[in-house]
Amino acid sequence: MPVDLAAQVLEGIPRAAARLISWLEDDDPRGYECMAKLYPHTGRAYVIGITGSPGAGKSTLTDKLARVIRRSGLKIGIIAVDPSSPFTGGALLGDRVRMSELSNDPEIYIRSMATRGFLGGMSKATGDVVKVLDAFGKDIIIIETVGVGQDEIDIIGIADTTCLVLVPGLGDAIQSMKAGIMEIADVFVVNKADKQGADQLCNEVCSRLEIDAHIKHSSWSAPVNKAVAVEDIGVDELWLSIEAHRKYLLDSGMFSEKRRERTRTETLRMIHGELFRIIREQLEQDGRLDTAVEELMERKRDPYTLMREIISEWLSISKPKKEAS
Ligand code: GDP
Repeated sequence: MPVDLAAQVLEGIPRAAARLISWLEDDDPRGYECMAKLYPHTGRAYVIGITGSPGAGKSTLTDKLARVIRRSGLKIGIIAVDPSSPFTGGALLGDRVRMSELSNDPEIYIRSMATRGFLGGMSKATGDVVKVLDAFGKDIIIIETVGVGQDEIDIIGIADTTCLVLVPGLGDAIQSMKAGIMEIADVFVVNKADKQGADQLCNEVCSRLEIDAHIKHSSWSAPVNKAVAVEDIGVDELWLSIEAHRKYLLDSGMFSEKRRERTRTETLRMIHGELFRIIREQLEQDGRLDTAVEELMERKRDPYTLMREIISEWLSISKPKKEAS
């Protein structure tokens, strides 16, 4: 009899979780069968996103935060995502910092994800891994990612509470403002407060938030915490801020609202990804795409009509199949 991987994940067997994540990574259909079984057991874990520029201290902060959270007996999953740098080993570097002691704790599960693999897109993959760890029994899942572009914003959009880590002197606050990351942060951390300029940065962030508050219709005012992650300073306060935000979400009904929105986005993204994969496979298989591209280049055809042709053709092929099933 084949091993029921989903059941093993639900039992909390780490090897089963690792195997399932690999299946998802390889786009193995068995992975999706498993996920379908696990889905009813998900939605329980609280998801925290930690984002910020490279070197801001996210790994150090995640490490310390995990220790603080563990004190209350909660089980933790950590996902270190590095979508932008498959070759520098950024995600691995993050691991090195915390692998040492944290990984000895059986209640903490750490997983790194680099761009390699996950053809369906990084945010979908991260969402999948969150679900695996949720079903696996983790109470808190921390997603750590480098905040730079849309991909990262999508990934961090999975989180219930998003923390943005800023550092004095890096100019990352300005970058974050440009990239629209400030807007999605629920909690701010000015890390490396042992360095000059921390107070000034706090003030800058606060005044920016005041301006935003006039535009945004949110009753949550994002706290700005100072921290020195390496010295474990400000980490308890960070956890308190996260808990306060969680309480705010639950009390205001925003929690369900956020999750509903996330489910909608995830579902659409999933459908989009799968349809695209199927159609692309078909087009690539018989060399039709290459032929079409040549015709488009020679202006014998136009992509607008071609696109509609492909879609209606696909619809007419797929319809009888759906009815038969
Ligand atoms: P990440 O790339 O954002 O994950 O950053 P890391 O956690 O790897 O930290 C980058 C560097 O900053 C490491 O050398 C840390 O030891 C150092 N660092 C982290 N937090 C602090 C802090 O509060 N103060 C100082 N001075 N250094 C820190």
